[in-house]
Order: sequence, then structure tokens, then C-alpha cells
Amino acid sequence: MSTKRTTQRKTRAKKCPDCQQGQVSATFKVGGRKKQESPDRQEALCLTCLGTGEAPNGN
Ligand SMILES: [Zn+2]
Repeated sequence: MSTKRTTQRKTRAKKCPDCQQGQVSATFKVGGRKKQESPDRQEALCLTCLGTGEAPNGN
């Protein structure tokens, strides 16, 4: 029988669905008359995973 159990448990954490590696690129609107979004993107810390890049819940 194969008793090869994975001993290392912290191999893969579930990735956070809201960001990429703990950072989200959010478009911020420039305050102006133009209602167009700025092409610039701002990297912000993901509030879902708090920058860890992992899903907050294991499931
Ligand atoms: Zn996240």
C-alpha cells in the first residue's frame, strides 16, 4: 500500500480571487470634468487578503 502521505501541508494556499499576489491594480479617477478614468493604475493592497495573496478562508 502506498503510505506516502503529503507531509508538507503548507504547499498551496488558495489564491485570493480579488487580487494578484496581494495587490490589486485599481483605476482611480482623476478629479476633473472629464469622466474618464485615468489610464494610470495604482497598485493597492488587497483588502480581501490583506496583501497575503491567499484567500481569507481555507475554503
Ligand atoms: Zn487579495
